[in-house]
Amino acid sequence: MVVLKGKPVADSICDKIRDNIEELTNKGIEPGLAIVRVGKKPDDIYYESSAIKRMESVGIRVASVVLNENISESALITKIQELNYDDGIHGILLLMPLPKHINSENVKHAIAPEKDIDGLTDENMCRLYAGDKDGFAPCTPSAVMELLEYYNIDVTGKNVVIVGRSLVVGKPLLMLMLAKNATVTVCHSKTEDLKKVCRQADILVAAAGRAKMINAEYISENALVIDVGINQDENGNMCGDADYESVCTKASAVTPVPGGIGSITTSVLAKHTVEAALKLID
Ligand code: NAP
Repeated sequence: MVVLKGKPVADSICDKIRDNIEELTNKGIEPGLAIVRVGKKPDDIYYESSAIKRMESVGIRVASVVLNENISESALITKIQELNYDDGIHGILLLMPLPKHINSENVKHAIAPEKDIDGLTDENMCRLYAGDKDGFAPCTPSAVMELLEYYNIDVTGKNVVIVGRSLVVGKPLLMLMLAKNATVTVCHSKTEDLKKVCRQADILVAAAGRAKMINAEYISENALVIDVGINQDENGNMCGDADYESVCTKASAVTPVPGGIGSITTSVLAKHTVEAALKLID
């Protein structure tokens, strides 16, 4: 059984980014990422600080935009529009979910598509669905594809089953996997006999947001399990959607949590920010 760790994948992405940043610096451009956080949710603060660390490690400037949780929708949209016009900002990361009094759809779509490095806007989603590589796919499903590429895992003709159909993980991953010629099934809470469907998978992606839900009964012998989930177990420790010990008894390879997909996501964020900046000199 092989443990597919995220760190070497993240390091390899960062090495390539440093070359691109040198190219940008030589042309007088310092790539910049704005992280927009509304309120003080611990998950947001954790993700923001790990993103900042990653950006600093490669030489991307970060502008942390921290806003009061009572901010109005229109004031938040105005802030996003200011960032759209800021020449020193090449990528905008809007931490979601937003407080309930704000319509997230309106705010998401205020982000200029060329700065939408987490693929939230309709324009980027359409590009992903049309197979247009000029857009940005969301960072988490992109991190899954980076992991497969790094470990030379070819998905061509493979049965990929994705558990979860959200707009940030399951659906975009469907398109990214199809683009690599996988045969893809997307499952959700209404899927009948989920275990049976999952056992058809050569590659099973767990992205349901249910701690340790996927155990050995959900996988076939020698399947590869990619665990996107980030949850807390009964003791408050971070765990994935897969029951790690259980799937390890059957799988040929597994991504750990922590230390798997989550550790690649911020590198993809850095990569997308640099790509957004590079488009200025294309
Ligand atoms: P989400 O928006 O809550 O979507 C969960 C999806 O799973 C939904 O499509 C839901 O089906 C499906 N689902 C829930 N329970 C199920 C069940 N018992 N059987 C089958 N399907 C079920 O979650 P998300 O934002 O996609 O996130 C998924 C997981 O990934 C979470 O643990 C999250 O923390 C993690 N995540 C990780 C990263 C990272 O960087 N590694 C980034 C983002 C998210 P319905 O559509 O029918 O409701």
